[in-house]
Amino acid sequence: MNIYRDVLNCRCEEEFPFVAEEHDRQVEKWGYQNHSLFEWMTYLTEEVGESAQAISEYEYREGTAEDAIKELVQVAALATRMMAIMRQNRKEQG
Ligand SMILES: [Mg+2]
Repeated sequence: MNIYRDVLNCRCEEEFPFVAEEHDRQVEKWGYQNHSLFEWMTYLTEEVGESAQAISEYEYREGTAEDAIKELVQVAALATRMMAIMRQNRKEQG
């Protein structure tokens, strides 16, 4: 098993554009949606599972790092979207 060194002092600025692009792609594909937090969590969990599968494929079979990163971007986009939804809801609640 490979060990990956952590990124020190990373604010992930290089990753954010990929997350924003993925958010746009998801909205284009699925449109704007209204769901309960548990439903959103189900979609996020599905993406986490796909990430685990892609990482497993990369580490032990013929998968690629690009495919694993793509799945992680999908997780980040959905998790970030959930954060935005919850923050918006809090603002609207006052
Ligand atoms: Mg996925």
